[in-house]
Amino acid sequence: MIELYRGLSPAGDLVIIEKLCEHLQGRSFLHINSTKAGGGVAEILHRMIPFLQSLGIDARWEIIEGDNRFFDITKKMHNALQGKEIEFTEEMFEYHYEINRRNAQRLNLDADMVFIHDPQPSALVDFRRQGSGKWLWRCHIDLSMPAKGICDYLMRYYEKYDAAIFSISKFARGRKRFEFIVPPSIDPISEKNRELTEEEICSVLDKYGIPADRPMILQVSRFDRFKDPIGVIKAYRMVKHYNDCILVLAGSPATDDPEGAEVLEEVKNYASDDPDIYILMLPPDSNLEINALQRAATVVLQKSIKEGFGLTVSEAMWKGKPVIGGAVGGIPLQIINGITGFLVYSVEGAAFRIRQFLNNPEMTRRMGQWGREHVRNNFFITRQIRDYLSIWYYLEYGEGRIIEL
Ligand code: UDP
Repeated sequence: MIELYRGLSPAGDLVIIEKLCEHLQGRSFLHINSTKAGGGVAEILHRMIPFLQSLGIDARWEIIEGDNRFFDITKKMHNALQGKEIEFTEEMFEYHYEINRRNAQRLNLDADMVFIHDPQPSALVDFRRQGSGKWLWRCHIDLSMPAKGICDYLMRYYEKYDAAIFSISKFARGRKRFEFIVPPSIDPISEKNRELTEEEICSVLDKYGIPADRPMILQVSRFDRFKDPIGVIKAYRMVKHYNDCILVLAGSPATDDPEGAEVLEEVKNYASDDPDIYILMLPPDSNLEINALQRAATVVLQKSIKEGFGLTVSEAMWKGKPVIGGAVGGIPLQIINGITGFLVYSVEGAAFRIRQFLNNPEMTRRMGQWGREHVRNNFFITRQIRDYLSIWYYLEYGEGRIIEL
């Protein structure tokens, strides 16, 4: 599989991956998260697991199973970690632990390297077998300002991991010897990101009755308040006074996000009967559809008010699109303000930048091209695999064993 990335990914990343794999051949690498469908973590693991297997790593991906009550609690944890004040009771924490305990009985937790993603399965570390491999907590959430109660609870488990990985340095806790920074990534050859023909793009627009001949503003996101879909509609309405355009809000459900339906209703009500707003609730595997919408868009927004990383930003940038993003979490890593897109702090700021792009096609094209190269150099899956394998190698062998490149 690595051959498919030659000429596409930075060559140095591929060399390092191959060297590391010579040492990690046949070793087992287990990932556990809370959903196979919806959201950035599932998006990455769907691509990364087969890639690791093709490199000779014995990679596995398991899911923590839970009921509505469990996912309601873990969504509250997610929101609290992103700063929302939420009352947690000891009973809620006990239930979270109990579901982790039941999953530990069901799952094979043995591997040379175990990555536990986000808070849902975090308590599994309590059921780690003596002498098993390394355990690492991989957090994808915006931890810039977490609410206190939730941190105290999760610290019980955090302390038990050998290491942790965060998406940007601002999220690191400074509580462990080994805290690593690894931003997420996109796969340029996946169905979500591969090149499309004009016919493929047009057939998706036809399917949803979206006109191809008017400027399109797009945001692709789960229906989650932290993604600020209402703010996007407000910005679009401001722009609409001056520029003809349509707005597309595309989202899909995630099995670990019980709030989606409620937020979708809010968004539909707010959009009211505006015929130029298209709200699409797509099945989670609509990769071709998302790809086509991103390619058809004139301007892409990711107006989040909290964001772990925001894969949708890199996805759109890779397609040469100008992206306007909230200046939060991992978005400023991707959008270099004024060069690969614009960072914004308000609805008014978003509206201003949308108009700037709509009215300046040459600047839009130029920034889109710079964005594409920025993504190629920094946010491809090959770089993330390079980083994961490097961390694994380092935790395994320390500084004593050096690989000559
Ligand atoms: N996504 C999708 N369909 C949708 C909405 C989102 O396939 O209707 C994908 C999107 O393309 C991206 C991922 O889900 O790959 C979202 O990742 P991101 O990091 O932007 O946000 P998260 O949902 O993890 O907070």
